[in-house]
Amino acid sequence: MSLCGARANAKMMAAYNGGTSAAAAGHHHHHHHHLPHLPPPHLHHHHHPQHHLHPGSAAAVHPVQQHTSSAAAAAAAAAAAAAMLNPGQQQPYFPSPAPGQAPGPAAAAPAQVQAAAAATVKAHHHQHSHHPQQQLDIEPDRPIGYGAFGVVWSVTDPRDGKRVALKKMPNVFQNLVSCKRVFRELKMLCFFKHDNVLSALDILQPPHIDYFEEIYVVTELMQSDLHKIIVSPQPLSSDHVKVFLYQILRGLKYLHSAGILHRDIKPGNLLVNSNCVLKICDFGLARVEELDESRHMTQEVVTQYYRAPEILMGSRHYSNAIDIWSVGCIFAELLGRRILFQAQSPIQQLDLITDLLGTPSLEAMRTACEGAKAHILRGPHKQPSLPVLYTLSSQATHEAVHLLCRMLVFDPVRHVRGPGTSAQDRQTQSMPSIVRKTPKSLQSKRISAKDALAHPYLDEGRLRYHTCMCKCCFSTSTGRVYTSDFEPVTNPKFDDTFEKNLSSVRQVKEIIHQFILEQQKGNRVPLCINPQSAAFKSFISSTVAQPSEMPPSPLVWE
Ligand SMILES: [Zn+2]
Repeated sequence: MSLCGARANAKMMAAYNGGTSAAAAGHHHHHHHHLPHLPPPHLHHHHHPQHHLHPGSAAAVHPVQQHTSSAAAAAAAAAAAAAMLNPGQQQPYFPSPAPGQAPGPAAAAPAQVQAAAAATVKAHHHQHSHHPQQQLDIEPDRPIGYGAFGVVWSVTDPRDGKRVALKKMPNVFQNLVSCKRVFRELKMLCFFKHDNVLSALDILQPPHIDYFEEIYVVTELMQSDLHKIIVSPQPLSSDHVKVFLYQILRGLKYLHSAGILHRDIKPGNLLVNSNCVLKICDFGLARVEELDESRHMTQEVVTQYYRAPEILMGSRHYSNAIDIWSVGCIFAELLGRRILFQAQSPIQQLDLITDLLGTPSLEAMRTACEGAKAHILRGPHKQPSLPVLYTLSSQATHEAVHLLCRMLVFDPVRHVRGPGTSAQDRQTQSMPSIVRKTPKSLQSKRISAKDALAHPYLDEGRLRYHTCMCKCCFSTSTGRVYTSDFEPVTNPKFDDTFEKNLSSVRQVKEIIHQFILEQQKGNRVPLCINPQSAAFKSFISSTVAQPSEMPPSPLVWE
């Protein structure tokens, strides 16, 4: 995983700062050349998309046999015709079960026939699997991860030979809650258009609605994620940390502008490719922000280590500031290469937080439940110990620690009493140098993604990203042409009013079925699962995360 070079570009910095901060531009005098390669933990060589076209390598995914315009489709159709039961109909990605029988692998065998090619490819893989140089090019379909709400496989798109990620969303239609959750996630994946947010490239052709049980989404394939990178032995330079943090906040600013709370920001949900491009993924817990503070929101969110104090303290309403807390924890983890608040229980989680930030004021605990408040007040009064953040790593500069302290603020939405009223504020502000440059608006409540992006610590990350990693700027013979908007937002917001009218599993199933078909209109040849493929059996039997791997439930205080 390599990071491209980035030189200071006064023009770009001036553009970002509205032309007013030539000094800031001049400050970025460092000469970045190519950094040492940072190989992803599981792939010891680079991606060569041009080598991926292997006829017949479409082991798990293949185009639906209703288009014969391309030579490949024609050949596949010819092979399929011999044994296909219903050649005039669209093929379901799951075959028809016998009446009363659950759809599944047992019923699958006779339905479709692309087995020969897949088997050949499989043998080919086996033969060459000891050649590491060829491993990626001929990589078989394989599982690459799974989370609370799905299993993800790395597969080949038979239409262009590119490797993509295929996510299975199983057990969608078990109950109304899971139907709605999955529909929301699907809608979001189709809504997102941002380079630091994972989006749907495609959704597999659904079968006839009677056999519609799973949903398969195709997304871009990313080689690694921040969790794997942090726990690996590969060195992370401060340039890596800056460009990762820049992209996390850039994606989050976009999500928050869409009115969406991610609610499970953690290193494993931040995918990274070999060029250090980062994308936020897994929207299984995401939802639209609730502006009405009297409305209760679930506390069954966010993996414990990254859970904001207001959730730990039982607040029934929270904002997108919970995502920023998680980013602060991840920022510290990137610097220190270890989890910042690694507690065994939600109570210990809160205790570790107050060890660092000090005992919160009553004001900061105003939305907490009584049990949580009592726990805090019963304990010893703690002074903040923010300077300990300087010991995270030699990369923990004043700028870094200042920004970190602006994310790790106990109170997400301090009611205006002016900055500097809490012990935590006083300590942050007594830190040298950087505070003087920071506007007052950046100094009280937990910082927003937008304001964090304006922090001087992220200037170099922005410069590097837009000099050679982004898709929004481009190079010409006379130099780089920068976009007018380095951190774009979305307009209009994501609209979740569709959820109000969802009232039964059958109804939602029909709406999702229709939604998927609409997404495919005018697109490329639709894809479906090939049940004869070598990988099919293990793919369909892949399960979701075990309960022990799920985020722990929040503490019940009362
Ligand atoms: Zn750009």
